[in-house]
Amino acid sequence: IWDRASDALRDRIGSNNHTAWIAPLGLTGIESGEAQISTPTRFISDWVQRHYADAIRDALVKAGADVARLSFQVASARPKPTAPRAGAKRDAADAAAESARGADPEMSAPLDARFTFENFVVGKPNELAHAAARRVAEGGPVTFNPLFLYGGVGLGKTHLMHAIAREIRARRPESRVLYLSAEQFMYRFVQALRERTIMDFKEMFRNVEVLMVDDVQFIAGKESTQEEFFHTFNALVDQGKQIVISADRAPGEIKDMEDRIKSRLQCGLVVDLHPTDYELRLGILQSKADAFRAQYSGLQIAPGVLEFLAHRITSNVRVLEGALQRLFAFASLVGREIDMELTQDCLADILRSSDRKLSIEDIQRKVAEHYNIRLSDMVGQKRVRTIARPRQVAMYLAKQMTTRSLPEIGRRFGGRDHTTIMHGVRKIEELCCEDHGLAEDVQLLRRALEA
Ligand code: ADP
Ligand code: MG
Repeated sequence: IWDRASDALRDRIGSNNHTAWIAPLGLTGIESGEAQISTPTRFISDWVQRHYADAIRDALVKAGADVARLSFQVASARPKPTAPRAGAKRDAADAAAESARGADPEMSAPLDARFTFENFVVGKPNELAHAAARRVAEGGPVTFNPLFLYGGVGLGKTHLMHAIAREIRARRPESRVLYLSAEQFMYRFVQALRERTIMDFKEMFRNVEVLMVDDVQFIAGKESTQEEFFHTFNALVDQGKQIVISADRAPGEIKDMEDRIKSRLQCGLVVDLHPTDYELRLGILQSKADAFRAQYSGLQIAPGVLEFLAHRITSNVRVLEGALQRLFAFASLVGREIDMELTQDCLADILRSSDRKLSIEDIQRKVAEHYNIRLSDMVGQKRVRTIARPRQVAMYLAKQMTTRSLPEIGRRFGGRDHTTIMHGVRKIEELCCEDHGLAEDVQLLRRALEA
């Protein structure tokens, strides 16, 4: 059951997150509706409970388990013998084995086989990023260090990172390329602190030719991880090693990142992936449709369908891809050609949501859900912190994520005055600088709303 649930989770949360957070878990038993999950460290346990509890429960239920609740136990970590004489030799052997493992290219996150340069469709919005990525992958005398790629969700940052890693490994198999997400970087760092293997950790990261860290904005606000990242970064640059970083925004825009790190990140080449335009979307659709056609042999697409999708689904490439995937799966199931009618039926939800802009009510609903309060409390008058704070978070997100004015937002929060809204927005801005838990909540909510 666990294997099946775990596979389903990989699909749901992506293989990077899966490797970092789900793979270390185990299912030790299920008793009267409660699944007992073992985790190697308190840290992983907290993290998983905070971020993936619902997903895990869903996956278990889908895998056929009768689970209503989860409980987490920290399985006692590998006991580190406190150096009894006879154990000394074994310790040394362990350490050697561990550092050998540390140097293992397996420490790099797995690369998605589809994320190659060949499969990357180039258009105006991404041509610079693509050219820079190519250049870095080819090596050669003039290269950019670090290469900093940034852009919104689903525009191809991870795709390009994987393509670079793959290309360098193919061209220079002997060179050590370490690719991982910033989340994994943090996870390994914290684990090394806990297990007192920090020297191995440093050694591993200082011994690569190419270090690639995806979604670096993740370590914003995480002070000691940033500190370690900064040292790793400097050590590698000093040795002339290549570094590639991605983030969802420009270095200067990353909040809660130390200035010295930001300026370091900018000292190479910074390129952004722009939102896709119609031609690029159509190009991507055509290329993916070719791949799907080969997979679902013989399935035809009526003229105009891809153009229609390129017009209507503008949010991000991942959604575009998902839509096409669903069309093919559905069409092959019912044995029909992919025409406009089938497209409208099969993608009604996606087409509807791409029609509609994010509303303040969507935000209120999501925030209320997240904090487990009532939607009516969003517009109500209760002033207890457990309700007032989420309400302010919703105000903040409404200001940030919609084009509504403060008075308009005020009206939708039960007729509040625009100064109240402004106060709420400021309050959250301030708090996000000090309270990392809150900053993380806000970030999570924003992602969920963008999806
Ligand atoms: P990001 O890391 O920027 O959020 P990803 O690299 O994960 O985005 O891309 C999301 C999906 O869209 C992936 O499946 C990727 O292959 C696809 N994709 C994005 N841009 C392109 C492109 N230019 N050509 C082909 N596929 C693309
Ligand atoms: Mg990515």
